[in-house]
Amino acid sequence: MSEPYAIVIAGGGPVGAALALGLRDSSHRVALLESRAVDTVTDDTRVIALSHGSRLILERLGVWQALRDVTPIQTITVSQQRRFGRVELTAAEARVPALGYVASYAALQRTLMSAVTGGGVDVLSGCTAREFNSTADHATVTVDDDGVTRHLLTSLLALADGGESLRLAPMEERDYRQSALVCDVISEAPHENRAFERFTPQGPLALLPTPRGWSLVWTARQARANALAMLDDAQFNAELQAAFGNLLGALRVSGARQLFPLKLKHARRPGAPRVVLIGNAAQSLHPVAGQGFNLGLRDAWELARAVRDAHDPGDPLRINTYFGERRFDRTATILFTDTLIRLFSNDIPLLDRLSSAGISALAAIPPAKNLLVRRMMFGAHG
Ligand SMILES: Cc1cc2nc3c(=O)[nH]c(=O)nc-3n(C[C@H](O)[C@H](O)[C@H](O)COP(=O)(O)OP(=O)(O)OC[C@H]3O[C@@H](n4cnc5c(N)ncnc54)[C@H](O)[C@@H]3O)c2cc1C
Repeated sequence: MSEPYAIVIAGGGPVGAALALGLRDSSHRVALLESRAVDTVTDDTRVIALSHGSRLILERLGVWQALRDVTPIQTITVSQQRRFGRVELTAAEARVPALGYVASYAALQRTLMSAVTGGGVDVLSGCTAREFNSTADHATVTVDDDGVTRHLLTSLLALADGGESLRLAPMEERDYRQSALVCDVISEAPHENRAFERFTPQGPLALLPTPRGWSLVWTARQARANALAMLDDAQFNAELQAAFGNLLGALRVSGARQLFPLKLKHARRPGAPRVVLIGNAAQSLHPVAGQGFNLGLRDAWELARAVRDAHDPGDPLRINTYFGERRFDRTATILFTDTLIRLFSNDIPLLDRLSSAGISALAAIPPAKNLLVRRMMFGAHG
């Protein structure tokens, strides 16, 4: 016997949970499946730089106030190792209260999930979607619920599993052959709500302000990232200081270092009737400009708006229209992120000179700088 739902969301990460929240007061029967048990404490140490646009969505979803330990970013400094070019973007220039906000992935996930469990959605935690099928009329999902197999029948299946477990159509994929090393860092100088992005030939290095000091996201080729992860603290501190410089005084790692291998993946087509991909299941990006979750949140928000009041939420025509409407934001954000990596993190001499000129030019041309700030804050619609 299949259990009937109007909408099933497979994956209760921050994007799937945001979609569930956007649908909680609709008339639809909605299920949110999440593999992890509800009280699991994630060991994910990454932080997420939220754009101003994401803050507005989280406010409308009613969770912004509940999000703890959020650090506003007032200034972003973009520079290049061994180059003079540097550009500084400020919230005052952009006429916004902050250029962005830093929250931990764990806090974001916890806050969204606890709001969803408040009612309006069937939250099936500790439940893994194993496989799905779809026709023009409906989709079915086979679920492993703590060892018990269940079958769900739905008008619309939203895949929000992060892209790691359920496969729809072949994805366009490019391995950056880089990993992001993430850890907490303490500096001699206080952060004063600044964020830094420093491009090196190996990959970008970002320092984001947090209540504890900084979160470091240091991207490098895989062998180098693995080697950095293995160093003892003193050796690691010396490498970090050499790569970042002395702007913040002595830098010191604090706590565990975590590695994330980086690939660009994205779906060119919807793939199957009544199935829609959102968040990292639809596209996973390089974290260089902190766009992945911000883009995924827009996927979730726009999907909730498209299906909330629909009689048949998974109507293939509606889903194709949604996919088409999301195309511009997705393509522009992927292109923006990928171009930053190709242009600024390379050791090809011509590109290297061009990118250095590019950073100096950005500093000198207010409209270009403004465009960069807006793109970083709002995505392609900025
Ligand atoms: C180092 C790093 C730094 C980043 N920094 C930023 C940043 O500053 N700003 C930004 O916007 N983005 C950033 N990102 C990207 C961001 O982390 C992702 O875009 C975001 O986590 C995607 O959320 P999601 O919910 O789509 O997927 P995920 O976060 O991967 O969540 C997927 C969820 O689905 C569950 N799941 C998986 N399979 C199943 C299944 N079969 N059945 C049921 N449940 C399942 C998982 O348990 C998980 O909870 C960064 C990424 C990295 C790696």
